[in-house]
Amino acid sequence: MSVSMKTMRHKLWGAGLAALIVLLGTAFWVFKHTERDLLAEGRVAGNVQLALYQELLRGWLGKYRALPSIYAHEPDVVALLQSPRDPARIATVNSQLERWNATSGALDTYVLDAQGQAIAASNWNSTASFLGRSYAFRPYFKQAMQGRLGRFLALGTVSGLRGYYFSYPVQSAGQIVGVVVVKAGVDGIEQELRLDVGAVFVSDHDGVVVLAGPPHWRMKTLRPLSEDVQSRIELERRFPIAMLRPLPVSGLDAGESDSLVRAQPDRSGRAESGFLHLSKSMTIEDWRLHLLVETRDIRYQSLKAALLASSVILSILLLGLLLWQRRRRMIGKLAAREENQRELERLVTERTTNLREANENLEQQVRERSQAEAELRRTQSELIQAGKLAALGQMSAALSHEFNQPLAAIRTYSDNAVAFLDRGRAEQAGENLARISRLTERMARLSKHLTSFARKPKDTVEPVSLDAVIAETLTLLQARIEGAGARIDNRIPSGIMVMGGQTRLQHVFMNLIGNALDATAQGGDPAITLRSDNSGAALRVIVEDNGPGVPQDALENIFDPFFSTKEPGKGLGLGLSISFNIVRDFDGHLNVENRPEGGARFIVTLQQADAVQEAAE
Ligand code: ADP
Repeated sequence: MSVSMKTMRHKLWGAGLAALIVLLGTAFWVFKHTERDLLAEGRVAGNVQLALYQELLRGWLGKYRALPSIYAHEPDVVALLQSPRDPARIATVNSQLERWNATSGALDTYVLDAQGQAIAASNWNSTASFLGRSYAFRPYFKQAMQGRLGRFLALGTVSGLRGYYFSYPVQSAGQIVGVVVVKAGVDGIEQELRLDVGAVFVSDHDGVVVLAGPPHWRMKTLRPLSEDVQSRIELERRFPIAMLRPLPVSGLDAGESDSLVRAQPDRSGRAESGFLHLSKSMTIEDWRLHLLVETRDIRYQSLKAALLASSVILSILLLGLLLWQRRRRMIGKLAAREENQRELERLVTERTTNLREANENLEQQVRERSQAEAELRRTQSELIQAGKLAALGQMSAALSHEFNQPLAAIRTYSDNAVAFLDRGRAEQAGENLARISRLTERMARLSKHLTSFARKPKDTVEPVSLDAVIAETLTLLQARIEGAGARIDNRIPSGIMVMGGQTRLQHVFMNLIGNALDATAQGGDPAITLRSDNSGAALRVIVEDNGPGVPQDALENIFDPFFSTKEPGKGLGLGLSISFNIVRDFDGHLNVENRPEGGARFIVTLQQADAVQEAAE
């Protein structure tokens, strides 16, 4: 049990770890892919933006580029350079320059002589006028003196403002006599380069940021400048060396395009963030245009995608877990159900076994009971037999008288017959012999009744003639009745058929009439009445006597075996008990009551044979 739980826990841990790895792996993969795609998109959009800025710069430069060459061909300017000290010409050109400057929107417009000294300027009237100052050190002067268009971005030495200088040589008689310079302000264009998010800036061939959207990035460098470059810049007085500190952009690899950098383009105090650095070279100016595209949004989007992907994966995993758990629960339930079923089957088998055992027990008991019943019946019939023997014992005295009396008579009649024959009186002898014959006939009849009474009865119940049974019984008891001098009033009509057994019914009436004879023996004029009553559903045979009746306390147990009030040797107490059972076997019953006028009354209720047969039909 614990081992399987352990392996289960291991498995769960393993599955959890695998799920975590899948989750993190997917999140990472989605993040990287989204970031890559969004960066590619940002790159494309950034390059388009770069091209637009390039056009913007080109337009801005183009606006001022042509101006010095136009001014250089103006006759007043040429004339001034031919005689640079002429105050009237200076004044003319000064006012002309002032006008032009106002029209073009440039910062300053001025004329240098061949030595680089400003001889006329648009700001002639201002305190910070260029007039009289030498600009021979400026590359734009040198370039123009070489007959070329000069161009140069630098911090103004007088104004302290950055400007883009365009210069053009003024020629007179095939000789360069001076230079016209237009200084364009960068504020406007830099305003255009300002971005809400990200940054645009321009670096020159030395890696100095000449134009920048973020103000604090201006005049910074992409990389530390070499000594040579520093001294050249100093010589040209382009920018103060002290200002040329590296740009606050980390990871900016020597102006390489397409790299990820970190910077803080505004001074809002925001923490520095990541940018995609894109750049494009500008062929005309030998400049490079830079664009920083903020990647925070890209990262945010990628993170969102990664989160979405991981939540989808997590949902799938959770769903899987849910399904798995449900399946496990189902399996558990099924197992429990199976277990219940097995338990139920076991119980059923157990109960069945118990029932079978109980059944076998019952069958055994039934067998034992029926054996006991058979035993009882056997005992009962043996008792009947014993009762009969007892009755025979009782009868033996009467019987010996019954047989002795005819035997004595037979002896007398035969002696008489011999005497009559000796005397030749054949007729009287024949008379005596006939008497002998009648006596033997009577003896034979008595003997026949005795034989049938002594026989063991059959168990069958069949229609029996009631008056025949009574007649047989009275014949058997004849000697006792005569001996007792009792009157028998037999009112039972002939032709009544009852359900019973001939001998057993005879035995019942033998008992009842015998008891009545005993009961009436003491008093004078013993009388016994036999009658029947078929007014109810069954037939009642009533045996009544005029004896003392049954004592009240004996009424309850008179039918119990061995209940007897007779003196030992006279009664066994079995007669009524046996009779009671016999009548019950015939589906009838035996009752006793005392007659109001005195004496006992025994009622034998029996099924009438006709009624039974009718019911059967
Ligand atoms: P037994 O005759 O051997 O005593 P029974 O079962 O025939 O046994 O009778 C039981 C008892 O019932 C008798 O002892 C007697 O007291 C009483 N009894 C039976 N018949 C009568 C009767 N007709 N009148 C009064 N008592 C009777």
